[in-house]
Order: sequence, then structure tokens, then C-alpha cells
Amino acid sequence: MIFGATGDLAVRKLFPSLYRLFQKGKLDKFAVIGVARRPLTTEEFQNSVKDSVITALGKKEKIDEFISHFYYQSHDVADSSSYQNLKNLAQQIDDKYELEGNRIFYLAMAPEFFGPIALHLKSDGLTDVTGYKRLVIEKPFGHDLESAKVLNNQIRKAFSESEVYRIDHYLGKEMVRNIEVIRFANAIFEPLWNNRYISNIQITSSETLGVEERGRYYETSGALRDMVQNHMMQMVALLAMEPPIKLTTDEIRSEKVRVFRSLRMIKGDKINKYFVRGQYGAGLVEDQQVPEYRAEPMVDNESNTETFVAGKIMIDNFRWAGVPFYIRTGKRMTTKSTKIVVQFKDIPMNLYYQPEKLLNPNLLVIHIQPEEGITLHLNAKKAGGHLNAQEVKLSFANTGIHAMNTPEGYEKLLYDCMRGDATNFTHWDEVAYSWAFVDNISEVWEKTKAEDYPNYESGTMGPKAADELLEKDGFFWWPVNALDVDICK
Ligand code: NAD
Repeated sequence: MIFGATGDLAVRKLFPSLYRLFQKGKLDKFAVIGVARRPLTTEEFQNSVKDSVITALGKKEKIDEFISHFYYQSHDVADSSSYQNLKNLAQQIDDKYELEGNRIFYLAMAPEFFGPIALHLKSDGLTDVTGYKRLVIEKPFGHDLESAKVLNNQIRKAFSESEVYRIDHYLGKEMVRNIEVIRFANAIFEPLWNNRYISNIQITSSETLGVEERGRYYETSGALRDMVQNHMMQMVALLAMEPPIKLTTDEIRSEKVRVFRSLRMIKGDKINKYFVRGQYGAGLVEDQQVPEYRAEPMVDNESNTETFVAGKIMIDNFRWAGVPFYIRTGKRMTTKSTKIVVQFKDIPMNLYYQPEKLLNPNLLVIHIQPEEGITLHLNAKKAGGHLNAQEVKLSFANTGIHAMNTPEGYEKLLYDCMRGDATNFTHWDEVAYSWAFVDNISEVWEKTKAEDYPNYESGTMGPKAADELLEKDGFFWWPVNALDVDICK
């Protein structure tokens, strides 16, 4: 059952992802009940599913067979009789398609409905099933630790922790899933993956888009809650975790939780030494003049909301003591790119030093999006000349090999959920620890107005203070555009 079946997420992501699973023969016995407010007939709904698949994928092979599995119910989320009708419809469909009483409830709706729907599913008997029951929850999971706890308590009245699948769509991305394999399947990396050999790690997730029509939501969220608490923290955990003893959901999640437990808790007047906030002004993005954040629709013209965050995260454990993990994310930046740069320490003695040029440090770059791949930056002899070193890059481009076959993140996550694999969903403990970490920052930023907003021009890589954050430590942000080159070819 997809709650919010006429919404943007369902139309742009969920229906096309389900279709791809269907095409690949991964959906055997299935039916989908779309639930939303709008009155629609099942036929109208099926046509909208068809349109969404064709718009997203341009394909229609067996599309009529696919959409025949879709049903619709107009629903009021606060009204028990709506749930009774839904229960009856679900029962009929269960019998027709021999679904063995298995149910997945996908909440693709505004977060204020998550708790009430979960409670109704229980009190109106939809969770009384003979098979499995699973709840898929979209972000944001709460607004801070307190509200996340309230939401979690509501959900847990109807579903056990192992039945809750909290979506972090970054965990559906091919190269985010690859971090673990790159680390734990390569003898050349794992021995170096610590503070003896790594000087710092940089994670950038930049967007060129502004806030668009999401002003109302974004004003209550900002980049810290929208990006850092979930996606950025998840990438930090995957990069920093210890090797799990087995690749099981519980083992991997518990190693990630141990990273969160080792985070240095920055508070109070230290926040602005470790974290930088920014808000975009007007500027040029991809040759288009764009307005400042405060002039966007549904945004307060004196808004204190950050559209950019950079930070230095320290993990106080044996492996990572002293290694900064720098993160930065923002809107209206120069380029759309998510990349991880692992910078290795300089070699102890540089034989190839030339007065005007130092040797480049070795870098391992993990390209998350839009291009997917890995680049390893090494030094090698310059052809023909003396023993001068120059940088060479070894590149692996994922898209180059698999062409268009990289599955959309939502497709993988939906499939994982059907198989009962919760590894790439966030456990409550991860959510709670990362909120506790981020709440310390928002508490300070919400109490003090940022007098310098807007402090970065649209089309740039953020405020100057974000550069100074690294300069203080003797580092600089590796320019994400320059790192692109080889992988795009
Ligand atoms: P949306 O506003 O486009 O859709 C909301 C859906 O909820 C609609 O189908 C609407 O009919 C239904 N709805 C609203 N009020 C209702 C009510 N009282 N009773 C019954 N149905 C009601 O929202 P969206 O963009 O699809 O986002 C849904 C969720 O997914 C949100 O939690 C959002 O944060 C999350 N999300 C969305 C995206 C995206 O790309 N759109 C990405 C990541 C996360």
C-alpha cells in the first residue's frame, strides 16, 4: 500500500521503480493499493501509473499487465472508516493474488502523518496479518531528537524495530553501497584505512538547484536537517566503521552505531569553530541568473535558514583519532556533485621535490553522483624527462561498464524491503545518535541570527569561512569539478 500515491515521490520514483522490478521478473505475486486524498477511480489511477512509467522510462512493454495490479482508494488519514475500507480491499486483493498475508505499507506522505497512520494501521486491524508486515518511512524522521522519539514511539506501537524500514535514499545509491566493498574487499586499502595513513576525508554533496517550490518545508528544515543529519552522517559512518564480523544487517548496523557513539560532541561556543553555515545570494548558476534564497517563494525575506553547511567531524576512536572528516553540502552551488575524497598522508621523504611544486598526495575519490566510479590519484614518472613525478589517475567509471543498467536507488530499496533486508535502511539507534549530534548545532544556530546572510553567491562553492575551516588545519577542499575529468570520458 502506498500512502500518498498521487504525490511527487510516488509518481517520479516509486511507480517507475516498481515497473523495472516487474520487467526484471522480480515481482512475482504482487498488487499495489494507491492511497491518497483525491477521489479517483482505479482506472484513472492505473492510467496515471502508466503515464508516470512512460514519462520516466519511455517504456511500455507489458505496461497494461503491470498496471492491472494497481488499485486505488481515496482515503482520509484521520478517519477509521477509511482504514476499514482499505482493510476490506486489501483482503480481497490478498486472496486474488495469493499474497499470503504479506503487506508493505509505504508512507510517501508529509511526515506529520507518519505517526497517526501507523497507529490507525494497528487500531483498525490492518497490521493483523498472517504473513509479514513492514512499514517504509520516508524522511524526515522527526525534526530533532525529541520529535523523532515521539514519532518512533508511535510507530513502535504498531511495528517492531525489525519491521520498520526508514528510507535514506543515499543508501540506495550504487556507489554508497560500494564504499563497504571498496574498503573491505581490497588488501591495498584496508591496512591504510586509519590515522596513520589518511590525513583527512572530504565529503561534498553540492546541488545547483535552489529551494524551488519546497520553501515552506525548507524553512523549517535547512541544510542541516535536510542533508547532514541523514545522508552526510550515513556516508561518514560507512567510511569510518570497523569491518563487521559478518555482512548481516545487525552486524553492519551495529558497527555504524559504534561510529556514531564515537563522534566528538561539539557544543555551545565551539559549534562555530567546527561548523559553518551559509545562505545563497543571487548569482549565476549554469549561465542563468538566479534569485537569492530570501526572494524564493514561501521563504521569509529575513530568513535565518541555512542552505549550506560545512563542518569538521572528529571521530574519537583508536582508528580515527586526529583525522578530520570534512563535510559540505548546499544548494545553488557551482556544480551538482556528490563525491568523497580520501586524502592520504604525504610520504615521509619526498625525493622528487621541485622548488615550485610539491608532490601531490595520493587521493582515492569515490564518485557517488551524477557520475559513478572511483579514481585513484598516484604519482608516476613523467614520460621522457628526468626523474620528475607527475600525477596520474586510475579511473573506474561504473556507468561506462554497465551502461544504463545502474538501478535507481528506490528500485533497490523497494526490492530490499520485499526481501526483508533492512541493511540499507537506518536503524532507530543511528537516527537517534545523529539527531543528538545535529541538535547541538541547530540549537546554537537557531538562537543566533546569522548577520552575514546571504554569505555566498549562487554558483559558488559556499562561503569563504568554509574554505578557512580547512585552511586552519593546513588543508583545502579538493575542487570537485577538477576531479571529474577522467571519469566522465
Ligand atoms: P507530495 O506533497 O507530492 O504528495 C503528498 C501525497 O499525500 C499526495 O498523494 C496527497 O494526496 C497525499 N495526502 C496529503 N494529505 C493527505 C490526507 N490528509 N489524506 C490522505 N492523503 C493525503 O509529497 P512528496 O514529494 O511525494 O513527498 C512524500 C514524502 O516523501 C515526504 O515525507 C517527503 O519528505 C518524502 N520525500 C520526497 C522526495 C521527492 O522526491 N518528492 C524525496 C525524498 C523524500
